[in-house]
Amino acid sequence: MSTNPALSEADLARLSSRRQLPPPVPAYLPTGPNSPLTVDKELYSKIQTAPRVLDQSFTLPIRSGKAWTAPAGSIIRISTPEGPQVGDLNIWNQQNPSERFWASRTRQLHSTHLSTHNRLWSCLPYMRPLLTIISDSLSWYGRDNNGGRVHDLLGTRCDPYINHLLSAGQSYDYHCHSNLVRAVKEFGFEEKDVHDVINLFQVTGLDEKGRYCMSACPAEKGDSIEFLAEVDVLMALSTCPGGDLSLWGFGADSEKEMEKCCRPLKVEVFRLEDRGLLEREGWKPAEVAGYKGNHGLADEPKEDEA
Ligand SMILES: [Zn+2]
Repeated sequence: MSTNPALSEADLARLSSRRQLPPPVPAYLPTGPNSPLTVDKELYSKIQTAPRVLDQSFTLPIRSGKAWTAPAGSIIRISTPEGPQVGDLNIWNQQNPSERFWASRTRQLHSTHLSTHNRLWSCLPYMRPLLTIISDSLSWYGRDNNGGRVHDLLGTRCDPYINHLLSAGQSYDYHCHSNLVRAVKEFGFEEKDVHDVINLFQVTGLDEKGRYCMSACPAEKGDSIEFLAEVDVLMALSTCPGGDLSLWGFGADSEKEMEKCCRPLKVEVFRLEDRGLLEREGWKPAEVAGYKGNHGLADEPKEDEA
């Protein structure tokens, strides 16, 4: 019985009837080996371990952002060269800023936190994987004693608007949102193109009341996550001004305080040495979902008449 005094007898009776529910099954389990949600693990392992050539490499300083392109079939590695640090990542179709990572659908299709062989899907009306995770040195983390997991899709980027609201009018220009806004400018993308992120290396969970909680980043020097680009992508990363989140807070001195736990992130883009491997193995860039986009509108032919 609930100990909540605000509940009426009727509420308690309704609550009691809901206690008999059978355990639910995940809503989007793959339906078979050919499901778009099924990743060919053998193939992706072969790609991950194949000899590769470094095409791009840079280290992202603390509290900054940078964007870069990576062609379909390339491997992107993001690592923590000096120890724990969370990174906020955005992804777009390189040619089309309207096609971007869709965090909430990805969360439904896979999980609240991502790891090896999960995919990062694009928004409507496109709906295809932009990236597939091919390795994750934190895949051992699982679920910690607070219910926390790593590589977060529950939350979003820190931003100066909510900070202004919660920190008594304080203006700070190096939140992840702002870092991403500055980063994408050189590619002609704008603030409106910045979207909900995956928080790499970030541990989050929900407490017993469903509230969003964070724990300190578990990464050590040299931890990494690797992605295969499923289409030509533009990516942008921010080194969160909260650093490893061990000192997270709001208020007058919070930015100064958190700088003590800020570290850089490293980005590398590789191509496979054997350029024909992907094609020979049957891999090809992801295609958009086949729905014709009629939506039952009167002047459009119906799906089954088209
Ligand atoms: Zn941030």
